[in-house]
Amino acid sequence: MTSTSRADDILGGLDGIRDDLEDFYRDLHAHPELGLAERRTAARVAERLREWGYGVTEGIGGTGVVGVLANGDGPTVLLRADMDALPVREDTGLPYASTVTTTDADGAEVPVMHACGHDTHVTCLLGFARLMAAAPQAWRGTLTVLFQPSEENGDGADAMVDDGLADRIPRPDVALAQHVLPYPAGYVGVRPGSFLSAADSLRITLYGRGGHGSMPQFAVDPVVLAALCVVRLQTVVSRELAATTPAVLTVGSIQAGASPNVIPDSAVILLNVRTYDETTRRQVLDAIERCVRAEATASNAPKEPAIEHITSFPATVNDADVADRLAKAFAAHFGDDAGTIELQTASEDFSQIPRAFDAPFAYWGFGGADPEKYADAVRKNTVAQDIPVNHSPHFAPVMQPTLDTGVAALTVAALEWLGAAESPGGRG
Ligand code: ZN
Ligand code: ZN
Repeated sequence: MTSTSRADDILGGLDGIRDDLEDFYRDLHAHPELGLAERRTAARVAERLREWGYGVTEGIGGTGVVGVLANGDGPTVLLRADMDALPVREDTGLPYASTVTTTDADGAEVPVMHACGHDTHVTCLLGFARLMAAAPQAWRGTLTVLFQPSEENGDGADAMVDDGLADRIPRPDVALAQHVLPYPAGYVGVRPGSFLSAADSLRITLYGRGGHGSMPQFAVDPVVLAALCVVRLQTVVSRELAATTPAVLTVGSIQAGASPNVIPDSAVILLNVRTYDETTRRQVLDAIERCVRAEATASNAPKEPAIEHITSFPATVNDADVADRLAKAFAAHFGDDAGTIELQTASEDFSQIPRAFDAPFAYWGFGGADPEKYADAVRKNTVAQDIPVNHSPHFAPVMQPTLDTGVAALTVAALEWLGAAESPGGRG
């Protein structure tokens, strides 16, 4: 059998589980949980995987769950879904909208919503896991389904890796993941190489010497120093990178002092950097440090600035061969509904998982927007206004064909590798 007909064989089971999957999705959407608090979600995932015969490990990196299904000789394929939601108050008007609130890490009461669509990822990966378990005749190898906590905080993949993931599950020959995006539901897009940006957030504390606002000669003013740093940092991307190298540097916060006639002791800048490869990332981070230290020296600061990394997401750079195989497989299965996808400025920590195994990987996007509404918005040139993006309180993927497409994409992708025991190259 070709991998296309094997996919059709497996996906034939979708009709029998669709109602159950949609119920699961509605329930998950109504019960979102913040990063590293995905206890209910993880328990429900683990329970189902066990029911279908997977060997299940729970609690990896806090709430991470991995299911492994061995089905004879063949490659090991890992597929990952993220489970966490966001502190956003849902305003979709859906009958299954979240009304959940919780206490965040700082003790504040916050609303919770699956505003990034990770509930679709969990549901699709579970649906896929169930179909694969029900059709052992259609594939050979080892299937690993990984449910990761805390993607939004950028620490969930690292938490699983730090908890010994690489020693606790079989080494994958390839690792795959997908994300629902504001494209028409039914569409699947992949690209080789750079796909998602690396994101680094820094806290920079600039030290001066406080004093009376009327006597700046006795002080070192950190407000002026901070202002000079903000201006100087604008030249990092505009003057140090080639016009063809995309990067963003945004200072999102600058805070110092509380009084008009007091020169404070220090100032704090918060900034965010987006880059698409490790070389550029290193270059920009080094330039930030160089500029900030030099400005502090120029201001005669009494103490070196403190530069702290608050969060760090790696760039997601798809393996060219893996992405190429996926693009061909998606085109064969989805026809015109498969294609490429633009470079995204969002970020992901998925790649930390394959990195822990030194395994090749690729990540793709699938649409969640109502196809008619989307086409209408394209005609009216109002996509930006009319199609809510991930993290919006209005982000509401249509249930179908979003879920069917996500399950099908995972199946088509996994079969590109699984089943290699029948004929070399996994195209049996
Ligand atoms: Zn997100
Ligand atoms: Zn997301």
